[in-house]
Amino acid sequence: MSRDAEFVRQWIHAFADRIEENKALLTRLDSAIGDGDHGQNMVRGLRAARQSIEDDDIAGTLRKVAMSVISKTGGASGPLYGTFFLDAGRNASGETIDLSDWASMMRAGLEGVQRRGKAEAGEKTMVDALIPAIEALEDAASNDGNWPEALQDAASAAEEGMEATTPMVATKGRASYLGERSAGHQDPGATSTYHLFAAAVDANDAWQS
Ligand code: ADP
Ligand code: MG
Repeated sequence: MSRDAEFVRQWIHAFADRIEENKALLTRLDSAIGDGDHGQNMVRGLRAARQSIEDDDIAGTLRKVAMSVISKTGGASGPLYGTFFLDAGRNASGETIDLSDWASMMRAGLEGVQRRGKAEAGEKTMVDALIPAIEALEDAASNDGNWPEALQDAASAAEEGMEATTPMVATKGRASYLGERSAGHQDPGATSTYHLFAAAVDANDAWQS
């Protein structure tokens, strides 16, 4: 079974909804180890993103989302999420995608984030949620998995990745200024990234019903 541009639009709307709902949490997490703006940054970016979406194909939709996020989000996370959506969209050709296309798109997005931000696993960033989520998608795709299970596995893996950032010492981004004192706090960017993958589960539920 394939998914189309409507699924991608639902994903962005679900992500924007989750960011609105979790704005206070993201602010609180970023206040502990950063400057407290991650909630507001993400709300601004995703409001612009959802408003920019029209009746485009998958690549066109993600290009508009990327441009809105890059111009409106700000902070370190704006260019990183912008690159994620831009590179994910670049990998989407045609009107529909199957699960292996989705996994390749997410992988391309991660590569963009890493090319831009230079973070590896274990540095207490969004990359720590992205990597396990994308590995779960790739596992599902190579085992002929179905969409609902693959997306749920990816969201669960992102959630575990997010939780695993708590004991880490940050070595990238603003939290790295705290050194050892960054340990004991969950990373805000890994938290918003968990919601990115949870939003795909929401979108799939909406798409199927
Ligand atoms: P800023 O740090 O500029 O205030 P935000 O608060 O919006 O920007 O975003 C902070 C989040 O960005 C961090 O929690 C982290 O997950 C992510 N981040 C910061 N630097 C990097 C990087 N080099 N690579 C990947 N993610 C990063
Ligand atoms: Mg911040």
